[in-house]
Amino acid sequence: MTKQQQNLIVNLRQKLHQCPEISGQEARTKRFAGILRAHTTLEILPCGEGFYAAHREKNASKPAIALRADYDALATLDGGAAHLCGHDGHAASLCAVGLLLEGKVVGRNVFLLFQPAEETGAGAYPCCELFQKEQILKIYGAHNLPGFPEARFIPGPARLPARRAG
Ligand SMILES: [Zn+2]
Repeated sequence: MTKQQQNLIVNLRQKLHQCPEISGQEARTKRFAGILRAHTTLEILPCGEGFYAAHREKNASKPAIALRADYDALATLDGGAAHLCGHDGHAASLCAVGLLLEGKVVGRNVFLLFQPAEETGAGAYPCCELFQKEQILKIYGAHNLPGFPEARFIPGPARLPARRAG
């Protein structure tokens, strides 16, 4: 990653941190998609109430995967909102992946899913349309998880949606 890209991502994380919006009200936050529009050729498409960035390869031989981040903030006791769960960092990190994917050949299509409303659970289900739409078999998410060793993969519960749209 170049110094310029690093600065972009650090600035993005700081901007997101200063503009926390709670689940379902992430209208301003969502504009961070602009960084991918401005600095990559990834296609930005709607997904549920969120969006995804598509890295497509003509000769992809491996199955497509998705990487997921969330971007809503938590409501605070004083009636405000704050990024207390690290979603500002999650979203900025996934944008960094987008910058790193630009112009690369990795042998598969990679979809970067940006999901709203993680804190209420409402944002996940509508985003499941991505699995069918882009034939994704595996999705990886990152989240701050106290109590576990750093940089480890913790398998999540394999839950499939009870019904699928379409
Ligand atoms: Zn969280």
